[in-house]
Amino acid sequence: MVVHRVWKGSILSGIAGVYRSEKYVVVERHRHQFPQQCIWCGRAVAADNVPVSPTADGDVKPPMCVTCTATRNRLPKSVGFFGLITFAAAPFVYSSFGALIAGALLLTGFIDLVIAWRLHVAASGFQAVRQDPQYVWIGGAHNVFLDAIPSWHGMKLGEMAAHHN
Ligand SMILES: [Zn+2]
Repeated sequence: MVVHRVWKGSILSGIAGVYRSEKYVVVERHRHQFPQQCIWCGRAVAADNVPVSPTADGDVKPPMCVTCTATRNRLPKSVGFFGLITFAAAPFVYSSFGALIAGALLLTGFIDLVIAWRLHVAASGFQAVRQDPQYVWIGGAHNVFLDAIPSWHGMKLGEMAAHHN
C-alpha cells in the first residue's frame, strides 16, 4: 500500500484510510483523510470546505462540492415547501369544508414535513452500503474520485456478504 501511494505521487498526498473496492469507497472509520475532491462529481473542493472527518462522534463525512450539496437538498426543500403550503391552507379549508377535512390536511402536511426532514438528513450525508466498527462502505462515488484513491486489498463486498451466509 505504501509503495502504491509513493508511485502515484502528489495526487495521493494527504489521502489516508480511504480505499477503492470495485465501485465502492471503503473508509477506515476512525483514521482517514479524504482527497480534496467531491465524492459525487469528482470536482476539486477547496481545503476550507473539506469537512472534518472523522468527527468527534466517529462519523464519516465525505467531501461534497457546493453544487452537489445544493442538488441533494433541492428535493427536501420542495417537499418541505409543500408541507408549509398545506399548513397555510388549512384555515381556509376549515371554513369551507369543515374540521374533518382540515384535520386530514394538517395530518398530510405534518407527514410531509417529517418526510422532508428525513430527506434533508439523508442529503447532508450518505447511505452507507455496509458498516462495521472499523470500516464504512460508501456507494455512488464518482469515477474520478474512485480513481484518485488507492485500491483496497481486503475482501470485496460480495465476498463479505457470502462469508456471512
Ligand atoms: Zn460535486
